[in-house]
Amino acid sequence: MNNFQYKRVSSPAAAIAELSKDPAAKLVAGGTNLIDLMKYGVMAPDKLVDVNHLSFDAIKKEERSLYIGATVRNAVAAGNADVLKYQPLLSQAMLAGASAQLRNKATMGGNLLQRTRCGYFYDISAPCNKRVPGSGCAALEGYNRMHAIFGASSSCIAVNPSDMNVALTALDATILVSGPKGDRKIPVSEFHRLPGTHPELDTTLDRKEIITGLVIPDNNFAAHTTYLKVRDRISYAFALISVAVAIDLDGTAIRDIRLAMGGVAHKPWRLTEAEQLLKGKQATVENFKMAAELAMKGAKAYEHNAFKLKLAPNTMIQALKTASGVKA
Ligand SMILES: Cc1cc2nc3c(=O)[nH]c(=O)nc-3n(C[C@H](O)[C@H](O)[C@H](O)COP(=O)(O)OP(=O)(O)OC[C@H]3O[C@@H](n4cnc5c(N)ncnc54)[C@H](O)[C@@H]3O)c2cc1C
Repeated sequence: MNNFQYKRVSSPAAAIAELSKDPAAKLVAGGTNLIDLMKYGVMAPDKLVDVNHLSFDAIKKEERSLYIGATVRNAVAAGNADVLKYQPLLSQAMLAGASAQLRNKATMGGNLLQRTRCGYFYDISAPCNKRVPGSGCAALEGYNRMHAIFGASSSCIAVNPSDMNVALTALDATILVSGPKGDRKIPVSEFHRLPGTHPELDTTLDRKEIITGLVIPDNNFAAHTTYLKVRDRISYAFALISVAVAIDLDGTAIRDIRLAMGGVAHKPWRLTEAEQLLKGKQATVENFKMAAELAMKGAKAYEHNAFKLKLAPNTMIQALKTASGVKA
């Protein structure tokens, strides 16, 4: 690990000033991802700016939304009474991630910005356009079992590893950020990006901006939500495929629905066409199968991840059945 400075800041302005004056500075929150990456030599910031003492540690039910501060720990958010009451899908997704110890340290801001788990990104002897732009992508012809089936490019086929981000995408969250030019709000669907020719950029956040929190608009989904994660081990493993489902049911009719998938793309993959197909229809296995077929339109597998082309729709159908209570 390289030598680095450590600076604790007590105001957002001080954090932004540190990022503005030092291009090689990075914020650190729980440190559960960044410190690992520094140990592996994947990232080498010359300064860590500690945001843990900023006052972004509140969860507040507001008039038509739920606010969660950037430094709230994942374990705290997952167990919070308002999160459980108004946005249980978020809690389900966070509890499916990592381990209890990690969730006690990991923050909302850090989770939003956790980096891919592509083995070639972590292996500093391998070419990786995300780690060293222009060096190539070893995953394209390598062991690409965990990799993308949607939205990949010839520069990068890595996936976003977060469970929380999939739920936030289904729930239409907005990310609150602050930077040298002031505050702005980024819809989560525009926060994470596809790799294109710049896979080194995971998000649309500017290098000098900080995340201050996020907001989830109220909805009528709380009674029918499921986060279904398929992985190699029952816990402490990243998703091969995950599906977030939130349904507003009127008897057996689907009044409204949100669907997103994880483990399939460089960003959480919202399934808007499948949502449109199901909206206004009956919650039946037949309709779920049609929606899953539509959701897979455009999917493309690589040598080792063709199993995802079957696993993804099957996981989606099962998640829809669980969320709606439809048995057969
Ligand atoms: C063994 C292991 C297993 C895991 N399994 C899972 C899993 O199954 N599912 C899952 O979803 N996750 C999993 N994780 C990842 C874990 O959820 C993340 O490491 C964690 O959420 C990162 O949060 P943090 O606060 O520790 O971030 P840090 O490591 O502190 O920071 C991560 C990034 O976010 C930036 N950052 C942090 N806060 C801010 C802010 N306020 N504004 C702007 N930038 C900021 C940092 O600069 C850094 O680039 C696992 C991690 C490990 C180590």
